[in-house]
Amino acid sequence: MWPAVFDRARGSHLYDESGRAYLDFFAGAGALNYGHNHPDLKRALLGYLESDRITHGLDMYTVAKREFLERFQDTVLGPRNLDYKVQFPGPTGTNGVEAALKLVRKLTGRQTIISFTNAFHGMTLGSLSVTGSSMKRGGAGVPLSHTVPMPFDSYLDGQTPDFLLLKRLLGDSGSGLDAPAGVVVETVQGEGGVNVATPGWLQGLAGLCKEEKIPLIVDDVQMGCGRTGPFFSFEIAGIKPDVVVLSKSISGYGLPMALTLFRPELDIWGPGEHNGTFRGNNPAFVTATAALDSFWGPGSTMEKETIAKGEQVESELQAIVAEHGDAGVSYRGRGLIWGLAFEDPELADAVCGAAFDRGMLLETSGPESEVVKLIPPLTVSTAEIDKGMEILSESVSQVCGQRGPARRGADRKEQA
Ligand code: PMP
Repeated sequence: MWPAVFDRARGSHLYDESGRAYLDFFAGAGALNYGHNHPDLKRALLGYLESDRITHGLDMYTVAKREFLERFQDTVLGPRNLDYKVQFPGPTGTNGVEAALKLVRKLTGRQTIISFTNAFHGMTLGSLSVTGSSMKRGGAGVPLSHTVPMPFDSYLDGQTPDFLLLKRLLGDSGSGLDAPAGVVVETVQGEGGVNVATPGWLQGLAGLCKEEKIPLIVDDVQMGCGRTGPFFSFEIAGIKPDVVVLSKSISGYGLPMALTLFRPELDIWGPGEHNGTFRGNNPAFVTATAALDSFWGPGSTMEKETIAKGEQVESELQAIVAEHGDAGVSYRGRGLIWGLAFEDPELADAVCGAAFDRGMLLETSGPESEVVKLIPPLTVSTAEIDKGMEILSESVSQVCGQRGPARRGADRKEQA
C-alpha cells in the first residue's frame, strides 16, 4: 500500500491530498486503460446522472444496457466475427470467472477444471481454486478442489511445448486425470508475474481443447480491453475461445462491471441461475458505451498506438537490463503490460519504493512479488512513458547500486 492519501486524478496522474502528483503506471490494476476521469466518459456519465436515468437495474431491460449491447456488438464482436452471447454476472472479475466455471461444469456434467501454474482468477472460492498462489489459496479456509494445474507456457523452460503434458494426460486412460469440464487460461498472467503465452502455445492449447471437446475459457479480465494491443488479448493467436471473461476496463471509468461471453450453443442457464443484485450497474454501461465510441469505433488506432508505446517501453527496458543484467534483472511483456523481473524479490519491492519516492506508482507481481509490473493507462503519452522509464531506470540504478535490504518490505501489499 502506498503511504499517501489520494484525492484527485486525471489521465495518467493521481494527486494526493497535499497536491503532490504521481505518474500512474498501475492504472487501477488494469481497470483504468483509458486513464483517470477521461473527459468523454465523464461527460456521458454526468449527463446520464443529471437526467435521472436508471442507476440500479438488476437484470432489467434498460436503454443504457441496450445501447451498450448494440455498441459492443457493432464495434467489438461483429468486426471480429465473434458470435457470443453476453451475460452480465456480478460486476467484478471474479464473479465473471465464477459464472464461466459454473457454466462449463453444467454444460459437461463434469467437475474438473484445468488451470495453469501462476494463474490468477480472483478471490472467491471457485476462482481461487484455479489460482496458483499458495498464499492466496491459503485464505480459502476450505479445501479447493476439482481443479488440476498444468504448466503454463515456458514453465518447463521452453524445452517442450508445455501443453503437450496436458495432451499426453488427456490421451492416457491410465493418467489419473478425470475428463475435464473446461480449461481456464490467461494469455498473459498479470498477477502471476507477467508471464506471456506465445501465440503458438495458445493455438496448441485451443486446438487440443477443440479436439477433446473441452470448453476453453479465456480470462481476459486484465489483458482484455486493449491491454496487449487488440481489444481481446487472444486475437494475436487467431483463436476463438468458447467462453471469455471481461471486467476491469470494460466500463472504462473504474466503475464495476463484468461480462461473461460464450458461444450461443453454450447458453444452458436457467432463469436466475447465476443472479446478483448489482448486475445492472447502468452508469457503468454508459461509460462502457462511451469508451467503445471514443476508442474502438471505425478507424480506431488504439491497437497500433498501444503496440508502438509498448515498443517504446521495451527499448527502455532493454537498456535497463543491459545495464543491470548482472544483478539478475530481466524483462518480458507485450502491448502495454511489461514486467521487470528480479532474481532477488526484495529488489523489486525496493524499486517500487524508490519509484514512489520519485512520484511514480508501480506495483509488484509474481509468486514472490519479484516482478515490477508496468501497466500504465493505454492513453499514456509518449512523453509520460519517457518520464516513467527515466524514473524506473533511476530507481533500478539506486536499488541495484545499493543492493541493500528492501526499504518498505513487509508493509507493502499487492493491490489486486
Ligand atoms: N482474473 C484476472 C486475470 C485478474 O487479473 C483479476 C484481478 N486482478 C481477476 C480475475 C479478479 O478480478 P476482481 O478483482 O475484479 O474480482
